[in-house]
Amino acid sequence: MFEKIFYEKDAFSNPRTQYVLNKFKGIPHVEISKIEDIFGRVKKPYLQKRTNLNLFIGEKKGQLVKETPNAYGLSGDPHYYFIHSYNCIYECDYCYLQGYFHSPDLVFFINHEEIIEEMRQIIKKNGSHKTSWFHAGEYSDSLALSHITGELPLYFDFFRDLKSAKLELRTKSANIKELKSLRPSKNIIVSFSLSPKEQIKDHDLKTPPLETRLKAMETLDKLGHPIALHLDPIIFCDDFKSQYEEMLESLFKYISPERIEYISLGVVRFTKDVYNQMKKNYPSSKVHQSELIKSFDGKVRYMRPMRLWMLQTIKNICLLYGVKEEKLYLCMEE
Ligand code: SF4
Repeated sequence: MFEKIFYEKDAFSNPRTQYVLNKFKGIPHVEISKIEDIFGRVKKPYLQKRTNLNLFIGEKKGQLVKETPNAYGLSGDPHYYFIHSYNCIYECDYCYLQGYFHSPDLVFFINHEEIIEEMRQIIKKNGSHKTSWFHAGEYSDSLALSHITGELPLYFDFFRDLKSAKLELRTKSANIKELKSLRPSKNIIVSFSLSPKEQIKDHDLKTPPLETRLKAMETLDKLGHPIALHLDPIIFCDDFKSQYEEMLESLFKYISPERIEYISLGVVRFTKDVYNQMKKNYPSSKVHQSELIKSFDGKVRYMRPMRLWMLQTIKNICLLYGVKEEKLYLCMEE
């Protein structure tokens, strides 16, 4: 999987670093002083992730838990994301990571205890009358490599007894190996991003097929793990409505609408930089088949009437299947 593994000298003795180094014994390990000395110093083309991917292991410095932008999660509660990893083994053609870092190399941060300490302070500051939400998976997929990074038990132990905090693990993977061995907790929600199977094939390169993700959701649901859904990013195609009808019909065969905690809907959107990168990296992506404009917040999107039609169409299908309206929310929309 990796060409080389770079590890920070100070992180070497950490059991998490040792576990990863032992797991990948056969490839060169290189000791470094700080990740920032090498990672992203020289711009590495995004698509080199296909042939030349390195891994960095170290400690994240600075702020580890940050407030999310507005309209990120269910409204009314404070939302935060935390940074425990950079980059991803998958290759969705719309992924914003392609314009975000100067390198597609993976970074694992191992100082989870410090992340948890920041969370503890935030929960204390917000008080018990508010639910503080913490989202994993902002700069990476939160489950894809969880069997290697090994941090989930720590977060489960921390969140399990908290009444005023929730953890969301966002994923496009079906890697539920770790979760299967953890006792579910009502406030730890595994949220799956789904698209119709044709769209997964067109856009979500290297991710597990729809059926595999649905089976993973079903398994976790049966084990008692709370499940949520992100229908995001929604991308237009000719048979848009029938593709979503078919996907949601399959979904609700695996998991009943009442068992889903919430469903977020978000139409594909890009910052200017990511959009330019995407045009360069994926010039024949079907995203380019519809007109995109600079919208209310400077991001590149479909025109407003089209976005509203797409969101309403999917919302109506969900309502027809019995999803309660209060469980549906729009992500990053006006
Ligand atoms: S799964 Fe998420 S982080 Fe990974 S490539 Fe796709 S969009 Fe990017």
